[in-house]
Amino acid sequence: MPQTENVKDIHNCTVEELEVLVTELGEKKFRAKQIFGWLAKGVESFYEMHNVPMRLLVSLADRGWYAGLPEAAQVQRSADGTVKCLFRFTDGAEIESVFMKYEYGNSICISSQVGCRMGCTFCASTMDGLERNLSGGEMLAQVLAMRKLTGEDIGHVVIMGMGEPFDNYDEVIRFIRLINDRDGYDLGLRNITVSTCGVIPGIRKFAEDAPQVNLAVSLHAPNQELRERTMPAARKYGYDELMDACREYTEKTGRRITFEYALIDGVNDSEECAKELAGRVMGWLTHVNLIPLNEVSGRDYRKVQPENARRFREVLERRGVAVTVRRTLGSDIDAACGQLRRKKDHKQI
Ligand code: SAH
Repeated sequence: MPQTENVKDIHNCTVEELEVLVTELGEKKFRAKQIFGWLAKGVESFYEMHNVPMRLLVSLADRGWYAGLPEAAQVQRSADGTVKCLFRFTDGAEIESVFMKYEYGNSICISSQVGCRMGCTFCASTMDGLERNLSGGEMLAQVLAMRKLTGEDIGHVVIMGMGEPFDNYDEVIRFIRLINDRDGYDLGLRNITVSTCGVIPGIRKFAEDAPQVNLAVSLHAPNQELRERTMPAARKYGYDELMDACREYTEKTGRRITFEYALIDGVNDSEECAKELAGRVMGWLTHVNLIPLNEVSGRDYRKVQPENARRFREVLERRGVAVTVRRTLGSDIDAACGQLRRKKDHKQI
């Protein structure tokens, strides 16, 4: 059973794994589903699991199993209802999660790694590299802890926080299985979105393993040369092959793919860029999500001028490309990923 360097986190166990565990401890299999159900309710201790025999709960605790949720080390609340939290795990690792209110319901953006090694030059999460992966259980724990913190139901999960999900592929799949389980949180697969910076083998595998989960790909440029300038991972995963993998994904799954495009002033926001991008994505099942850059201290990039964003959008629309401009939530707090963690450590930002 995969474990983090952390403690034995019971949130990381699937029902089947819990069944093995409880039967090894001489108990009936159905106890596993009871424990799994309690965890999804958000309990933080074995002793809250009232219908489970105390001897079993004591055995689990004696064997080092832990049911706690991460500590909310810092919380920022925005006037628009957005809540950003710096969660701290028992080993001291800190990650960010963001709760957002949308018309279609409440959503959480969770992290998949502590830090990131992809090196995108506009992103705060990657400035100190990768500290460690998160387990599927630690991804689930972010949802449970945020629901507790806000007192609100959460019906959508996007894996767009710190980290590159496809650099931690197996644990992301584990998380999806855990949160989708009807004996637990029971979140629909179509209510989950995974965002990748373009890890091609991950995209190919994902089409097989999780065809109902939404996929977003961070493009941020209309061609290889420009993409390489801001996204070092593009050197390994070239533009043409990436587009081929995306197209195969849509053909195999029948699902629309979302391309994220952060508009950076004077870098990728020209009319020529918009035309070139349209040429790349026209005519197949795609959707372009334009994101005005979140300015990160310590980085030189500036947010797109509003008139340039409008022009960029119009060029795409005129060519029949489905396009939206992401609504900026939490602009009065440190909404750009990785910023809160850096500030907290009093690092240079
Ligand atoms: N590693 C994954 C998911 C995490 S980042 C990925 O790259 O997709 C989620 C999205 O936010 C990505 O599209 C990422 O490129 C974008 N992003 C990162 N820093 C940003 C910033 N300062 N402003 C706007 N978008 C940013």
